[in-house]
Amino acid sequence: MDDMSGVLKRERLATLERLANLTDDFDRFVDASRDSNADDEHDPEGATIAFERSQVDALIQQARTQLVEIDAALERLATGTYGICERCGAPIPAARLEARPTARTCVTC
Ligand SMILES: [Zn+2]
Repeated sequence: MDDMSGVLKRERLATLERLANLTDDFDRFVDASRDSNADDEHDPEGATIAFERSQVDALIQQARTQLVEIDAALERLATGTYGICERCGAPIPAARLEARPTARTCVTC
C-alpha cells in the first residue's frame, strides 16, 4: 500500500493546484460581473458571466469534496483501514483502488 500513499499525495497536490486555478477564475468572474452592468438582467454578457461563474463554482465545490476524500483516504492509510470496505469490511479490489484511490466501499456495496 506504500505506492497508494504516493498516488494520493500526488492527487492531493494536483487537486490543490486545480482549486487555486479555479479560485483565480472565480475571482476574475466576480470582477468581470462587477465591471459589466450587473443590475441589468437582460445584459447578455452579464448572464454569460453569471452562468460561467456558477460552472466554476460547481467545479470548486467538486475539487473541495475531492480534497476531503483524499485526506480521508490518507487518514485510512495511516490507521491501516485503507482498502477495507467501510460498509461490509471486505477488502476493496486493487483494480478499483487504482481506478478510484479514494474509494471507501467495495464494488458490491
Ligand atoms: Zn462492501
